[in-house]
Amino acid sequence: MGEASGNPSKGRHHDAPSATGIASPSGKTLPSTSASQASMASTAASLTSTTKEEPMGPDRRTTVTTPGQVSKTGTAQDSQGGSPVGSVTKREDYISWDDYFMGVAFLSAMRSKDPSTQVGACLVDTENKIVGIGYNGFPRGCSDDALPWARQSDGGFLDTKYAYVCHAEMNAILNRNIAPLHDCRMYVALFPCNECAKLIIQSGVKDVIYLSDKYHDDAIMVASRRLFDLAGVRYRKHTPKVNRITIDFSSA
Ligand SMILES: [Zn+2]
Repeated sequence: MGEASGNPSKGRHHDAPSATGIASPSGKTLPSTSASQASMASTAASLTSTTKEEPMGPDRRTTVTTPGQVSKTGTAQDSQGGSPVGSVTKREDYISWDDYFMGVAFLSAMRSKDPSTQVGACLVDTENKIVGIGYNGFPRGCSDDALPWARQSDGGFLDTKYAYVCHAEMNAILNRNIAPLHDCRMYVALFPCNECAKLIIQSGVKDVIYLSDKYHDDAIMVASRRLFDLAGVRYRKHTPKVNRITIDFSSA
């Protein structure tokens, strides 16, 4: 938001991290890692095949024995992690939580109208339930065709997107479907700008997981880290376990 919020001088890049849209308008739709979400992202995982078996949720043929352990049709799986009973075992190629949530952030970014930078953010609570999603764009009610998308213009700040765009982090927070975001984590492609860092801190988010920190040395990012460090917000770079997640609608 640096840029979006009226920081013309710095807002060059991280316009990326903004978000505007609201993948889940009212926020209520992202209940949890429910089937639809799970299958959506899992479908994708480089592993094309399986579409009907959500990695983390019981499907029609499975029975959840203990968290994270699923066995089929009544056959119990060794709770110690040993060999499962029976010949059918759970999938092993499901995507990790981190890849899953980062994937949701990326999917959300695909909604962005910004021609130069598309960023998505996904908020997750301590139970791995998605509680907010957002991507960069103009404020609700402001036509995507009525405001400028340029990064720079002879007309100055008012003719650039920086005067109007909302970053993904801001939108994810404003779209949240739970009141406090205490101890929640935020997955976002780019390291948050200083304006988003303020929102993240004030909202109660405690962890920021990002993929790229390409503006690491910019003053805006230095300010972000300074704020995060002081406020006790942890941040870490995510290294995906899979390089590509593909969603194949035709596999349904
Ligand atoms: Zn920002």
